[in-house]
Amino acid sequence: MNAAVPLVFRANRPAADLREALARVVEGEVLFDPASRGRYATDASIYQIEPVGVLIPRTHDDVRAAFEVCRSLHVPVLPRGAGSSQCGQTVGAALVVDHTRHLDGIGTFDREAMTIDVGPGVVLDTLNAALKTHGVWFPVDVSTSAQATLGGMAGNNSCGSRSIRYGNMVHNVVAIDALLSDGTEARFGLTSEADAALPRVRDLLARVRAIGERERDEIRERVPKVMRRVGGYNIDVFEPQSDHPYTADGRVNWAHLLVGSEGTLAWTRSITLKLAPLPAHRALGVVSFPTLYRAMECAQHIVTLAPSAVELVDRTMIGLARDNPAFRSTIDAALIGEPDAILLVEFIGGSRDELTQKLSQLDELMGDLGLPNRVVRMIEPAPQKALWDVRKAGLNIMMSMRGDGKPVSFIEDCAVPLAHLADYVDRLTQIFARHGTRGTWYAHASVGTLHVRPILNMRRDGAAKMRAIAEEASAIVREYKGAYSGEHGDGLVRSEWVAWQFGPRLTRAFESIKDAFDPDGLMNPGKIVRPSRMDDASLFRYPRDYRTLPFQPALDWSAWNVNNDPIADKLSDPGSGGDPARGFGKAVEMCNNNGHCRKFDAGTMCPSFRATRDEQHLTRGRANTLRLALSGRLGADALASDAVRDALELCVSCKGCRRECPTGVDMAKMKIEVLNHRLRVHGLPRRDRWLAHMPQWAPWAARLPAVANLRDRIPGAAWLGQRAFGIASRRSLPRWRRDAFFRGAIDSVPPNDAEVALFVDTFNNYFEPENARAALRVLRASGYRVHVARPAMDDRTPRRPLCCGRTYLAAGMVDEAKREARRMLRGLAPFILRRTPIVGLEPACLLSLRDEYKVLGLGDGVQRLSESALLLEEFLLREHRTGRLKLTLAALPETRALVHGHCHQKAFDAFAAVLAVLKLVPGLSVEPIESSCCGMAGTFGFDAAHYDVSMRMAEISLLPAVRAAPPDTLIVADGTSCRHQISDGTNPARAPLHVARVLDRALQAAEEEAAR
Ligand SMILES: Cc1cc2nc3c(=O)[nH]c(=O)nc-3n(C[C@H](O)[C@H](O)[C@H](O)COP(=O)(O)OP(=O)(O)OC[C@H]3O[C@@H](n4cnc5c(N)ncnc54)[C@H](O)[C@@H]3O)c2cc1C
Ligand code: SF4
Ligand code: SF4
Repeated sequence: MNAAVPLVFRANRPAADLREALARVVEGEVLFDPASRGRYATDASIYQIEPVGVLIPRTHDDVRAAFEVCRSLHVPVLPRGAGSSQCGQTVGAALVVDHTRHLDGIGTFDREAMTIDVGPGVVLDTLNAALKTHGVWFPVDVSTSAQATLGGMAGNNSCGSRSIRYGNMVHNVVAIDALLSDGTEARFGLTSEADAALPRVRDLLARVRAIGERERDEIRERVPKVMRRVGGYNIDVFEPQSDHPYTADGRVNWAHLLVGSEGTLAWTRSITLKLAPLPAHRALGVVSFPTLYRAMECAQHIVTLAPSAVELVDRTMIGLARDNPAFRSTIDAALIGEPDAILLVEFIGGSRDELTQKLSQLDELMGDLGLPNRVVRMIEPAPQKALWDVRKAGLNIMMSMRGDGKPVSFIEDCAVPLAHLADYVDRLTQIFARHGTRGTWYAHASVGTLHVRPILNMRRDGAAKMRAIAEEASAIVREYKGAYSGEHGDGLVRSEWVAWQFGPRLTRAFESIKDAFDPDGLMNPGKIVRPSRMDDASLFRYPRDYRTLPFQPALDWSAWNVNNDPIADKLSDPGSGGDPARGFGKAVEMCNNNGHCRKFDAGTMCPSFRATRDEQHLTRGRANTLRLALSGRLGADALASDAVRDALELCVSCKGCRRECPTGVDMAKMKIEVLNHRLRVHGLPRRDRWLAHMPQWAPWAARLPAVANLRDRIPGAAWLGQRAFGIASRRSLPRWRRDAFFRGAIDSVPPNDAEVALFVDTFNNYFEPENARAALRVLRASGYRVHVARPAMDDRTPRRPLCCGRTYLAAGMVDEAKREARRMLRGLAPFILRRTPIVGLEPACLLSLRDEYKVLGLGDGVQRLSESALLLEEFLLREHRTGRLKLTLAALPETRALVHGHCHQKAFDAFAAVLAVLKLVPGLSVEPIESSCCGMAGTFGFDAAHYDVSMRMAEISLLPAVRAAPPDTLIVADGTSCRHQISDGTNPARAPLHVARVLDRALQAAEEEAAR
């Protein structure tokens, strides 16, 4: 093993010199504060190293200038994409250059050459969305396609599920325009040394070729023959070893040497990619196996049918999917009997007939292998997609394990020849057991790269077990002539194994290649060559001496405060995990930095990142900030610091992360905790306090609506409101209504007779009472005896309507929220007791009964309340499905409804119910808008400081979709603030309706029809 170069900032000058020098020469952002550096200190690996600073370049010139500064100060440089590497490639004591925000240009598609040029920050899914209209795609379909950048994919030589057909990244890169650490810029491709214009490049290529030529024998001897080999540098471009050729004619493509070099040789400025035609048809054959061993044994035979993917799902994942009601029917439909493992075998082709034949061949083959009638055929795209989604979700559930034992990546992508795959899995499983752990197996059986992460507790004996397991696993890999790193690269966890894999001679050759490209060792030092040890605890995110500071949270986080037993697959009792922050620390640590929240596709998470593309305003950035604060890395009582406040400032509490984060990081709840702590330390600004207390003063405002509404009538009042209270003058305010719901006569059955209790929230009561009246009519017309929920008889303020406490929660006023919640519990007691459905209209209010109430320490009734609390649409759909709903609706003049889902509806799987009940209206075509948060999010968008970002969130997809809808389209949105945002953001203003209003109109249409 080579002596490790210390991974510390080696410059003699202070970081301040670097910061100032950079600030003078770059247009982009220069971030050197501890929180920003902390947010760039991790990736999806187990490591954490604080960078010297962070640069978000605006242009290529910025990068060029930064390189010059770093060279003069001898500061290393670390290029970074989404930071989703699993091996620690993107952590280091260097200037981290994050090119995802601005360097994401996509060039013109060259149809003849089937190529395209892209900037390093382009995200794979974004590229493929842009290419779709041309009928082509970039086929290296990594699982992280929604966040992985092409620069990072090239850096890691990434591989997709369909690599058996399309190859790895290296097989799909035509050329790379690169910048070397000495400032040289050159295009690396199929050119020969003689063609290089610059003497420095000519010399470089000649030196490297000489190394390659010299090592031909050693390459043949030491480089694994498997296609999935991504460790070390691709020195076998000079003597190809895999069956999958680098180039068609055997020539050296110099770009291929840069691919997989993990930012250690050069900075990629632009990449020319080879594209493939989009497959016309896909078909899936799902094979059920009695044992995992048999599945792995058969993989080598299945690949002879030329599938595009063969993916493994093991018993654990099947079980996880079956446990989830959302996936049960999909997985059950894919299984035959009770298999121990399934293989998803995908074929692509030009026609359905061709694919049907392929599936028949698969059937026959399985029969020949002694497993007749084991194939479920999926020809239609919908079930195929559903099953792929299950596979992904299964992995997510596995990663959401609570407690300090976590699945750790370090041998998760060894590749072995298919003939040995079954024995490899078997032997490794035994090794895990011997070390008191286990792993779940999944992924790319087609190329012998199975993912498995043994569960280890890095704060205890994890490091020692990691070393022991790695050594035993590597011995098997060597025996089978496999590759120790088959997909995710070297980074900090595997660079140490480069020498083991390639031997001393090639290791020296790699060092010579590194020195030729980067003589001063400035590019991402310590990766691939001259590495540190994988178990150097000083580089761990959670070393043995990791401490969480004591903290007394306001919410109950005990469910996270647990330990896990990987073998028994059991959690200890809530509260027993030993977290000095009583579970809050462990909840924050659930973020494993996989970067899934950096997404722009369907779904909600994370709207503030979508609008800003700033790591600080990302769920991961927030979780990291909180973790650093809780572990004392940001100074004393950092939870109350401005750095933490700033990180949470743009979190709209949409709860998108609660549902979509693979590990269930619930930032909306964490924000309540942090705001609570902050207000204890700093107090609450007057404006926030005033807004939070709205349920208290609302009855008075409602008595004088003309006065309360003056702000939008008197010229200059909006301006004054902004000056005095920070309420955006460009916003209209909700209008107080003289006819508030509770001010009118309400026809309500006594509680004991009720079949439904209707909870009318503060917002619908005072601002849009017609929604509550519509809901009441719909429920009655459906045949239910409805009681409108009121405070308990002995309530001290019986005339003030019930309120869920949402405004208090939004301000972090947990004590006040608890008071409101207790009042709710008392008022709703008769219904909770009898399990009468409690139906509400405003998602943010009603769903807090199912969510935040459970962590407010309210006692036993809460579980029952949460089980009875339903949104109107959920209740109606449930009744419809059981055949109890007697609602007669008639067609409306409008034939199309465009529906925006409230983020909390989506977070609680309630959005589908809105769509389903709207479909009960005859002749109405119902379409969801693919939108994230509307950007208003309660009072967030009213804040003058948030106005612009709020509108940016709305403009990402919601407002353009609404504007594009013809005027006779019904716009439906159940959230009060969503409706407000849509009206504010459209001109002429569209008037979205609550689903209750649409149903009520269809009901009235039916009554009119019946009366005629
Ligand atoms: C849940 C999960 C699933 C994954 N699935 C897959 C999978 O299916 N297949 C797969 O191959 N990987 C997978 N990965 C690993 C990772 O997502 C991929 O390697 C991905 O391509 C990395 O992209 P990135 O933008 O995050 O790059 P980063 O992690 O930011 O960077 C990767 C490397 O490239 C270097 N780099 C980045 N930009 C440049 C540049 N401009 N110039 C020079 N060097 C640069 C970096 O220094 C680093 O060494 C997975 C990771 C996770 C967490
Ligand atoms: S917040 Fe969730 S999605 Fe984002 S990086 Fe952390 S674990 Fe992944
Ligand atoms: S609650 Fe919403 S805005 Fe906040 S971090 Fe989660 S996804 Fe992002």
